[in-house]
This record gives sequence, structure tokens and C-alpha cells, in this order.
Amino acid sequence: MIRTALGDIAAADLGRTDYHEHLFQVSPLLPGDELDDEQRSGREAARLRAAGIDAMVDATPAGLGRDAEAVARISRSTGLRVVLTTGAHRRAHYRDGHPLLGMDAAALGRLFTAELTEGVRDDAALAAPRPHAPRAGLLKAGIGYWSIGDFERRVLDGVAQAHRATGAPVMVHLEHGSAAFEVLGVLGDGGVPAHRVVLAHVDRNPDPGLHAELAAAGAYLGYDGMARHKSWPDSVILDCLLRTAELGGADRLLLGGDVARRTRYLAYGGMPGLEYLPARFVPRLERAAGPGLVRRVLVDNPARLLDWTP
Ligand SMILES: [Zn+2]
Repeated sequence: MIRTALGDIAAADLGRTDYHEHLFQVSPLLPGDELDDEQRSGREAARLRAAGIDAMVDATPAGLGRDAEAVARISRSTGLRVVLTTGAHRRAHYRDGHPLLGMDAAALGRLFTAELTEGVRDDAALAAPRPHAPRAGLLKAGIGYWSIGDFERRVLDGVAQAHRATGAPVMVHLEHGSAAFEVLGVLGDGGVPAHRVVLAHVDRNPDPGLHAELAAAGAYLGYDGMARHKSWPDSVILDCLLRTAELGGADRLLLGGDVARRTRYLAYGGMPGLEYLPARFVPRLERAAGPGLVRRVLVDNPARLLDWTP
């Protein structure tokens, strides 16, 4: 099954999935880019749904402005299925003194497990269980650029503990796509096989040879850097994806927008919005590779990754 904000569904019912967006996110790293307005985030979600996306992961982990009940309301009103996330981001997203930073790996693992099995906690009071809250369907950890700090290591260990307890899938934020094999090594030592892991932002290092090696190791490859041509144009990402698929990685590719900033959300007055991925990028992929690869990347692969049996 896949655990969504509105309950568990069969993996076959997930549909076309954007593996990485945010409906709510507040981080000291992104001042002025808060996603904190239920009406506006709801309108953005409705536009994503109207552009042809059936489901998304809200990839905001603990302590960064999540609102699980609001996500459930948005999901109900738009018809967009949403998978909620537990776990924690990389250290830089948390202000000094944040309660998560003082928790050891075992306590983090208990918190993440509870959010998968009991309900997502109020982000302002993570200590309080909420048995009737929507539950998370995905674990997340994050690291720095070629750097796994003390807190990030504890989060990886806590995520592994929660995975061992539940079987839930794992997303890892790789800063600029770095340290992918190192993260897979840490998680593997903790009992998380690579085929239960998606490496977010691997396309920030658009190297199809590397991506094919990661896919051969079993890991899912999260491509989510479209509409950022200050780094490189979408054509680089498209070519990398096509080449990685040719090299054998087609069953490991995932697409997301990770737009993540209110200045990029149409409903908050910015652009290009979450609909950029289905409206601009997916048609280019379909013209280049045909509907078969689009189906694997948008439907089959996310359903396989997000499927778990508690
Ligand atoms: Zn993100």
C-alpha cells in the first residue's frame, strides 16, 4: 500500500506522481519564501492537478512548518493525492536550539516511526503524539555538500531505525547531488537497501554515467531541478535522463519540481509554478522518448518506491 494524507491506497491507484514538492515549508534558510498559507497552497495544488498530476510527495520533514491536517484538506478538495514526510532535513535548515537537534538517533527513530504509524505531530510541539492526525508515508534525511555532520548522521541512523521497524521508503536530500554512494553506504549499514531509497537532486550533478551506476546499485534517482537555467537549461536534465535510461536506469528515474519557494508559486504571486513540470518538461520528455518512458518515470517507478507493508 501507499500511505497518503487521506489514508492507505493501493499502489496501482497512485497515478502520475510528482515525487518532490512542498505545500508547506518554513525554513530559516529560505527567508521570504515561506509556504504557509492554506488557501494559496491549495490553489497551487489544484493547478498541479489540473495540469495532469494525480499525486505528489510533500517532501517537508519534521520541524519545518508542516501542516498535515491542512494537506489532508487540500488533498480532499483538489483530488490530488499527497504522501506526507517524516524524518529531518540537513542541519542548516534548523535554527540553533531547535528541539530536533538535541535528540539522539534512537529518539529520532522513535519519533519518525510514530509519525509513520500513529500520526504526524504538530511541528511546533514534536513531543506530543496525535493519534488521529494523518500519517506519513515516507522517511527523509539530508546531508551537506560532501558532508555528513553529527546531526545528519543521527538522522540517517534514526531513519534507518524507522525503516527497519516499518519498511517505509526513504528520501535523501543530496546537496548538489554529492555523496550519493556514501549515503547509500550509511543507510545500507543501517539495514536500508538501496532499492528503498530515492536520492533527491541527483540531477544537480547531471552525470549519466554516475546515475546509471547508482541505478544499477538499486537506488532511485530524483530529478527535480527543472526551470533553474541559472545552473543549466532543462535540455541538460532531459539529455541526462534519456542517457541514463539508455544505460539501464529507466526503472529508477523519478520526476519532481521541488519548486519549494513562494516566489516561484503562481498562487503566491510568483512563477513558474508547480505546473511547470507537467506543462513544460513532461511534454518534452514524451516527444523525445515516447509515452512508455513517461509512464515508467511518472507512474510505475514512484508507485514501486512508495509501496510498503507496515
Ligand atoms: Zn524539496
